[in-house]
Amino acid sequence: MKILVAGGAGYIGSCTTEYLLERGHEICVFDALLNGHRQAVDPRAKFVKGNLEDYSAISNAIHDFQPEGVIHFAAFIEVGESMKLPGKYFRNNVANAMNLAEACAQNGVRKIVFSSTAATYGMPKNVPIKETEPTIPINPYGESKLMFEKVLRWYHDIHGLQYTALRYFNAAGATPVHGEDHHPETHLIPLVMQAAEGKRPKISVFGTDYDTPDGTCIRDYIHVLDLAQAHLLALENQDSGAFNLGTGQGHSVKSIIDTVKSVTGLDFPVEYAERRPGDPARLIADSTAAKTVLGWKPQYDDINAIVESAWKWRRLYPNGYED
Ligand code: UDP
Repeated sequence: MKILVAGGAGYIGSCTTEYLLERGHEICVFDALLNGHRQAVDPRAKFVKGNLEDYSAISNAIHDFQPEGVIHFAAFIEVGESMKLPGKYFRNNVANAMNLAEACAQNGVRKIVFSSTAATYGMPKNVPIKETEPTIPINPYGESKLMFEKVLRWYHDIHGLQYTALRYFNAAGATPVHGEDHHPETHLIPLVMQAAEGKRPKISVFGTDYDTPDGTCIRDYIHVLDLAQAHLLALENQDSGAFNLGTGQGHSVKSIIDTVKSVTGLDFPVEYAERRPGDPARLIADSTAAKTVLGWKPQYDDINAIVESAWKWRRLYPNGYED
């Protein structure tokens, strides 16, 4: 299949591009390199540097490459920043993304697969979370993702553009060559590893009084290659809708810190701090629908293996990508 990957220079985008290339697909990466890295673009892929705010840039890229499918990773992802700069999130994650949807519809793309998020659920009442759980986001980031899911539903109904929204839980891990290098870094596992490497003085645990067995928040960490597999299955599928992607297992912040200590063999200071506003106590996916409808078969169900893959990549790229 010819597949255009918008945001293919970012973390999940670069890992998915690698996964698709390994399976013989032809890839064009479209990325503005605002947060992504040129070095993360797989050399086997065609590369177009462009920003989704520019309709003619994305429309020309799709017109020239003629992809059957498009995957959309090119979005801003920081919850905390979205609470300070909501306009930045709605402009890029909704308005600019609409240029991509329009360009797909105008150029005969069959399917678009969209990186959505568990943040669309806000504070869920029922955990593990099914897709039928009400979507009531509690920050502009989650709202922007939900808004674009709705845009895609209308493009499907009116223009016949097939779509799959994949609601990721906590993406983690790395491939041998592609991994997570965000600036600034806000995610737990890379931050704990920076503490292990001595690149930060300590790791802060945000809240120890949650209603969980050890008092710290529980999340569902899913390996980035299992996410990649779901994107290919979604492209091959002819239906439209949203799917949760997680392992169905929850890990507390404290247990992640212990896992990083044991995988790296390194010790570092841990500080118990205040809650971070807007953090639900438990987010765990029920991914039954992705398994039964898409045929998704996640390969990594062991948090040690997930953390080990991230650690291997960091040792290969101690300073992250160079550009
Ligand atoms: N977290 C933490 N310390 C940090 C960063 C994150 O305790 O320095 C916690 C955070 O409060 C949440 C969990 O780790 O409960 C996962 O956070 P992350 O930002 O990685 O992902 P999120 O679940 O917010 O998407």
